[in-house]
Amino acid sequence: MKLNGLHHITAIASDPRKNVEFYTRVLGLRFVKKSVNQDDPGTYHLYYGDYTGSPGTILTFFPWSGLRRGRPGTGQAYATGYSIPAAAVAYWTKRLSNLGVTTEPLSDRLGDKVITLFDPDGLRLELIATAEVDAREPAPSDDVPREHAIRGFHSSTIGLISADETARVLTATMGYRETATEGHRTRYAVGAGGPGTYVDLLTDPNLPRGLNGAGTIHHVAFSTGTDASQDEAHREIEASGLHVSPIIDRAYFKSIYYREPGGVLFEIATDEPGFAIDEPVETLGQRLGLPPRLEPYREQIEAALPKLN
Ligand code: ZN
Repeated sequence: MKLNGLHHITAIASDPRKNVEFYTRVLGLRFVKKSVNQDDPGTYHLYYGDYTGSPGTILTFFPWSGLRRGRPGTGQAYATGYSIPAAAVAYWTKRLSNLGVTTEPLSDRLGDKVITLFDPDGLRLELIATAEVDAREPAPSDDVPREHAIRGFHSSTIGLISADETARVLTATMGYRETATEGHRTRYAVGAGGPGTYVDLLTDPNLPRGLNGAGTIHHVAFSTGTDASQDEAHREIEASGLHVSPIIDRAYFKSIYYREPGGVLFEIATDEPGFAIDEPVETLGQRLGLPPRLEPYREQIEAALPKLN
């Protein structure tokens, strides 16, 4: 199958307002889509990314006010890594400290410096100051200067008790290749490789067992270009023996879902049609996006959703 790298990563949050504030103002991402959870239209589905919401930049949230916290650990996408320029470490360290964001001491990973931080729900995020070339244009932001800004995803780190079966799915079925290993971590890349394509499998015995709830990842989605390449991916996942969902139209992309053997829900999403399908690029994130079947209920849905600002 032909995968390009990460497409989006979806997480669980509690308070939607704090979520918007953190990702747009603290991290400087663009709010690219305000939509609803298609399975629970009384709650939001919020998307943050670069200017257009390019695949490989999109972090999305299902916020449920008052939801109890989970715990990142094994059987989950344990950490979500963003790519920042190598020279941006001092800027972000100071910024996060000034804004009172919880962080861990600066660490080293495969030659790069890593700032670990937590969002208002305790979601584990990493700013990976990579020496690798990352030419992606960051989201324009009033809060974060362009030279220090987040370029998009760097990697998703999967927490596992044993990595063998997950590694087999990545390499034998999904076209990933092993590129590096250090301690309990092994890195895999796909397609052109580089930041935005990486999946790290982490088997640190100190990892707790993951518990679902606010501040944890719901699923990790991989990018495939077109409907045709998604059809091919669907056939190959089915042939590998994994249970895979039918193709589901998510309005901004089409999706298939399957659970990898380590317990993490994976998705393969098309790059098309993208987020400009129901509002202009210039005003992304302003109008509530609804799938056609929910459009007749727009007024009731908008009235029931909490205000974001
Ligand atoms: Zn998804």
